Amino acid sequence: MAETMQGLKRTHRCAEVTPADIGSTVTLMGWVQKRRNLGGMIFVDLRDRSGIMQIVFDENDIGSEGFEKAGLIRSEFVLAVTGRVEKRSGAVNEKLATGAMEVRAFSLRILSESETPPFPIEENSQTREELRLKYRYLDLRRPDIQRNLMVKSRVAGLARSFMASEGFLEIETPVLGKSTPEGARDYLVPSRVYPGSFFALPQSPQLFKQILMVAGYDRYFQIAKCFRDEDLRADRQPEFMQMDMELSFVDVDDVIDVNERLLKYLWKEILNIDLQVPFRRMTWAEAMERFGSDKPDLRFGMELTNVSDVVRGCGFSVFADAVSAGGSVRGINVKGQAGMPRKKIDSLVDFVRGYGLKGLAYLAVHEDGSFKCSFSKFMSEEELKKLADAMKAEKGDLLLFAADAKNKLVCETLGALRCELAKRLDMIDPSKFEFLWVVEFPLLEWSEEENRWTAMHHPFTMPMEEDLQYIDSDPGRVRAKAYDIVLNGCEIGGGSVRIHQNDIQEKMFECLGFTKEQAQEQFSFLLESFKYGVPPHAGLAYGLDRVVMLMLGLDTIRDVIAFPKVKDSSCMMTQAPAPVAQKQLDELGLIVRGSSENE
Ligand code: ASP
Repeated sequence: MAETMQGLKRTHRCAEVTPADIGSTVTLMGWVQKRRNLGGMIFVDLRDRSGIMQIVFDENDIGSEGFEKAGLIRSEFVLAVTGRVEKRSGAVNEKLATGAMEVRAFSLRILSESETPPFPIEENSQTREELRLKYRYLDLRRPDIQRNLMVKSRVAGLARSFMASEGFLEIETPVLGKSTPEGARDYLVPSRVYPGSFFALPQSPQLFKQILMVAGYDRYFQIAKCFRDEDLRADRQPEFMQMDMELSFVDVDDVIDVNERLLKYLWKEILNIDLQVPFRRMTWAEAMERFGSDKPDLRFGMELTNVSDVVRGCGFSVFADAVSAGGSVRGINVKGQAGMPRKKIDSLVDFVRGYGLKGLAYLAVHEDGSFKCSFSKFMSEEELKKLADAMKAEKGDLLLFAADAKNKLVCETLGALRCELAKRLDMIDPSKFEFLWVVEFPLLEWSEEENRWTAMHHPFTMPMEEDLQYIDSDPGRVRAKAYDIVLNGCEIGGGSVRIHQNDIQEKMFECLGFTKEQAQEQFSFLLESFKYGVPPHAGLAYGLDRVVMLMLGLDTIRDVIAFPKVKDSSCMMTQAPAPVAQKQLDELGLIVRGSSENE
């Protein structure tokens, strides 16, 4: 039978006991990590969120009744223990903060018993994730996950105090909103009062924060839940936290400045790392050209080189045709890898095929200066040498080339290959934090699927003034006042200066193929508010989960979210989503297609 705490009060968390407490009496409460019964003595590692303290049950201290009770203790039982802090009698455990101490118990209460847990609660668990997520409350007891969530809580607290000190107001925006085409698919919530009408969960507070600027709440900040009904990729979740902000009467540099100081402050406080500001900046065009990515990982080199001019009209038709069709041939120089076995090169070919490229050509420069080359039949020694020179190849280097009529495909595939190779060849220093602002994104992006221009950021992003002249003749050429903050090859945040002039906004909708009526219907409340005095404004939002994940060097955002969802957007613990009672559907006026009860 479990006992109550009555009359007992916890004095410390387990690992908050310090050597200064030696000799004093403490009361600790927590879970049993481990128990060893050595006959006359029972040792228990007691755990709470602060860490572990070793408890010693000795019949001489606790009496026979207490000792008998201690014999019942099993893993994950919840205990209250009162005892004296002493220097450890046995060997000191260097791994524990409390490793030089122990508590000799003279009173024990078993507050709750536990069934044998389905997996051991331990750091760096090897248990498969699905099982851990099903029993997430047990998984959450692991010290590494607890540390992650504690860091996340600190990041949020520090960000709030920093933003407050910079004059930002924390204002919440609705979760039940209106469906607007922001990019991803909305989660919908049916209205009971208006059958057939729906709320949408926010993909971001974007429109509301702009309206707050119209309303005069210059400098808004919020840590907000956002929802996107997308197929999940590795570091995505259907619901996630944004650290969101908007400022009035500012331009790009002002937003960048405050955010550099915010990140510097967080890295200093959490990791005691001094980030150098300002961070590097690169235009989107340069990032694509040099790294084949709009979020380049700058922890290693291996940049892309455009060799189209060198191979134009050459005898190797794969190269020559790509160039003459308006595409490009580009390469990367994998230093010192000329000896890479054929099998490994083949696996790289498979890798690029996954991106839609037909193949990968290679040229290895051996130590004696001779070439081994997949296309040597089609090019003279002299041409090969010219190509190797253009790639700045030295003896021992492996050159890999991609060619296609679609320039974007060449860049993006080589960009991905560059990262894959860096991983495989262990070229990345995991202790590095390489921040980068990517600026001057294109305003519009052509969608093959929809056969129209779409907004690369969102429809409220301001074009660069000097490019406005091309908006009718060459919309793809117009750059936007949009910026992303990139860390170690991941986009951790992004934002833009917003359009605050009616004529430019109308032009933008026109480019996106909205009729006036459509624009009015979708964004009426924003456009209406814009009739009454709009300050120039700009903002940015971080993916908070991702920031914390990278800060801690983790591989998945699930490790910084208490109750994450799995790939198919379901929750292993609660089994959500789940069918609801017919009565609930009736109240909402909903008929579910295919469900027999509804037919
Ligand atoms: N709302 C944008 C997003 O979610 C960020 C911004 O423009 O402030 O990506």
